[in-house]
Amino acid sequence: MNQHRPNSENPAGNPNDIEAIKKRAHRPKKAVITAAMTYANGPIHLGHLAGANIPPDVYARYMRMLIGAQNVLFVSGSDDHGSTSELAALKAGKTTREFIDEIHQQQYATLKRYDVSLDVYSGTSRPECFPIHKQMAQDFMRKLNNNGLLNKRISQQWFDPKVGRFLQDRFVQGKCPNLKCDNENAYSNECDKCGTQYTPTELLNPRSAISDATPVLKDTVHWFLDMWKVSETLRVWIQGKEKTWRASVFNEVINTVLPSLAFSNIHETKYKELKTSLPKHKSKYAAGKKIQVQFENKEDLNQGQKLLLDNGIENELLDGWAHRSITRDVTWGIPLPEEWGPEIAGKSLYVWPDSLIAPIAFTQVALKKKGLDPAKYEEFWKEPQAKIFQFLGQDNVYFYVLMQGAFWVGSQKDPSKLPAAGDFQLTDIFGSFHLMVDGEKMSKSKGNYFTGDQLLDEKGYSVDQIRYFVTLLSLPEKMSNFDFENFKERNRFLAGPMNAAFEKPISACHSKFGGVVPKGILLDKVQAETAKIIQRYLRSMERAEYSTLLYAVENYARLVNSLFVQTKPHDDRFPEEERNNGLFSCFYILKNLMIMLYPFVPSTMDRLRQSLNLPESVFTIEELGTPIPAGHTIGQKQEYFPAAD
Ligand SMILES: [Zn+2]
Repeated sequence: MNQHRPNSENPAGNPNDIEAIKKRAHRPKKAVITAAMTYANGPIHLGHLAGANIPPDVYARYMRMLIGAQNVLFVSGSDDHGSTSELAALKAGKTTREFIDEIHQQQYATLKRYDVSLDVYSGTSRPECFPIHKQMAQDFMRKLNNNGLLNKRISQQWFDPKVGRFLQDRFVQGKCPNLKCDNENAYSNECDKCGTQYTPTELLNPRSAISDATPVLKDTVHWFLDMWKVSETLRVWIQGKEKTWRASVFNEVINTVLPSLAFSNIHETKYKELKTSLPKHKSKYAAGKKIQVQFENKEDLNQGQKLLLDNGIENELLDGWAHRSITRDVTWGIPLPEEWGPEIAGKSLYVWPDSLIAPIAFTQVALKKKGLDPAKYEEFWKEPQAKIFQFLGQDNVYFYVLMQGAFWVGSQKDPSKLPAAGDFQLTDIFGSFHLMVDGEKMSKSKGNYFTGDQLLDEKGYSVDQIRYFVTLLSLPEKMSNFDFENFKERNRFLAGPMNAAFEKPISACHSKFGGVVPKGILLDKVQAETAKIIQRYLRSMERAEYSTLLYAVENYARLVNSLFVQTKPHDDRFPEEERNNGLFSCFYILKNLMIMLYPFVPSTMDRLRQSLNLPESVFTIEELGTPIPAGHTIGQKQEYFPAAD
């Protein structure tokens, strides 16, 4: 094997190039990472771990290695308000507070078992959070109202005449209004079987989940958020994310926010005549015998709308997405600002905006917990050089991008501008698709529903086996399947070739080199492969694209085995210089592997760190591509990944 000669195939042929690669990584000054909040109605299950908790944990650990732990806050909490927890408590025969506290403890314990390194796991109703959260949320509501982004409207809501209260979302069940769907237990505003969202009045055969009475519709006042008023600001922001957000996230929101209108297809001929005189647009056939036209901005839309009207084409603005009620007839939630008058009685902030604002309060709770001034949250949320990375389910992208964006921008001094320093900064979104288990949607009746605790206690898997496998699944791109056969196969790989890559150099070092890293030269091929993998690593981690990255890291680990075949450090009948260089290079690979895999399998990599006798401070990006020096005494071999059947 060639030794450290310049290599024309390798764009990064010397250690300095790795330094240059590392320098190119984007380093925000501060970073907040949020894990999707879990409803306080049940235990953490495999779907939560795979979609909501482990991917952001990997990201938070990476960020800490990149910009320093003191600059990173990883926050989450239970989504306590709204009807979900209230209803679950009612069914369990407990008070809402009692029920939530129990669930919360259980959820937090499971997250800790899975090494989810949250700086805080709070909850929207918890005493350490609620007062701060209420203040932040009311502040948003007041500012939105003052900026004219809230409109009072009277609408009809289901009311249970038997118990004398309005019935929210999940308190009413009935037949899904989607004729293609047969769900008899759809909620009042959405069907969790087919995913359709609708207004409560559309639900068929409604019944109360509290009393089983047939509910009646009653007038009620609610405050609606006018996102249309800030849609141009949102559009400009979203268009700037085309290259950084996942395509599934970007496409969904850009297609919502680009201004569109629709007209009957009886005007098709006339429209075709006008087509070239209309501002630049895209058109398509839409449901209800309509033609839908999407413009590039509001000015074009207004021009287009006028031209169509002038030519006798009646059309409707497709702005339904932009007007949503942000209040509900429930008392279990954030109260509305008192000065809004007597109409606020019995109402609170809708649980969606409630949960969008909650991470700001969680951040303050986290700072307090660390003994820092909670007011420092502004350095994390209001500085343009800080970044907020939010991990959430793909089906919540609308809320986290459009509704949250409208809350942030709409509460600024000037809602027509993107946030400046001192304003709440718009966040970066990582959407994740649903996890299926053994080819089907998880459900208790199908026997493919697993809580996080069950996987450890009953199935006997290790935390790192699960962490590794769920990050290998491609949830960022598509619905993915947790297939137990594939899982076992991957565990065999970890217990086999991966463990061997860790163990071989350590064993050879103890048996033939007195437990000391030999004096050697880094082999060219190793140097080149390392530069390549580090570049790949930094790029993929920034985008939270773990799946294909892990396969590349696995290939990098295989280099250890091939170096053993070529240089035979464990066999002293072979030339000493080659053996020295081989083992020295193996330790170099091992150190890089250990750092790169740390965010994914932290406790296994911490055991490897102990075996290499390196300090905890080695887990930084700065240490990537730097060798373990010759003469360093290593520690003892340990058990890394558990044996697999
Ligand atoms: Zn349905």
